[in-house]
Amino acid sequence: MADQMVTVVMERQKNIALIAHDNKKHELIEWCRKNKEILEHHFLCGTGTTAKMVAEHTGLPVRGFNSGPLGGDQQIGARIVEGRVDVVIFFSDPLTAQPHDPDVKALLRIAQVYDIPIANNRATADYIMASPFMSGTYTHELPDFVAAVKQRAETL
Ligand code: PGA
Repeated sequence: MADQMVTVVMERQKNIALIAHDNKKHELIEWCRKNKEILEHHFLCGTGTTAKMVAEHTGLPVRGFNSGPLGGDQQIGARIVEGRVDVVIFFSDPLTAQPHDPDVKALLRIAQVYDIPIANNRATADYIMASPFMSGTYTHELPDFVAAVKQRAETL
């Protein structure tokens, strides 16, 4: 798809998206409380209900998008594409069917495409918080999507 790569730097202050399925919301709130000293140095956003509950229970400012089943996951996916989300903490529920499962899959896929760290359980979230990259910059190589469009338009 894209042979050329482009270097992208994540700044020290990260844009972190928070999402929790209903059975996991209280676990995420507790995790945010525990990690408040780290999280307060970054910009937080999240799907509507999760953002509101985390903000109310922890005092952390969290920008809320639409509720997940109403497109919130897709809004976060779009921000990943635009380079406006650096980390996703997504406490998903592996034991309950979700009406917006296609959106969840789309979010996981786009995070993979853009090499975004995404935690879907507590241990992974803890590992991410413990990373030295949380308080420093992180440089990674992404496919050059501008070059890809140019090449496709010229060759297809
Ligand atoms: P919510 O969405 O935070 O609005 O509940 C989360 C989700 O289920 O994706």
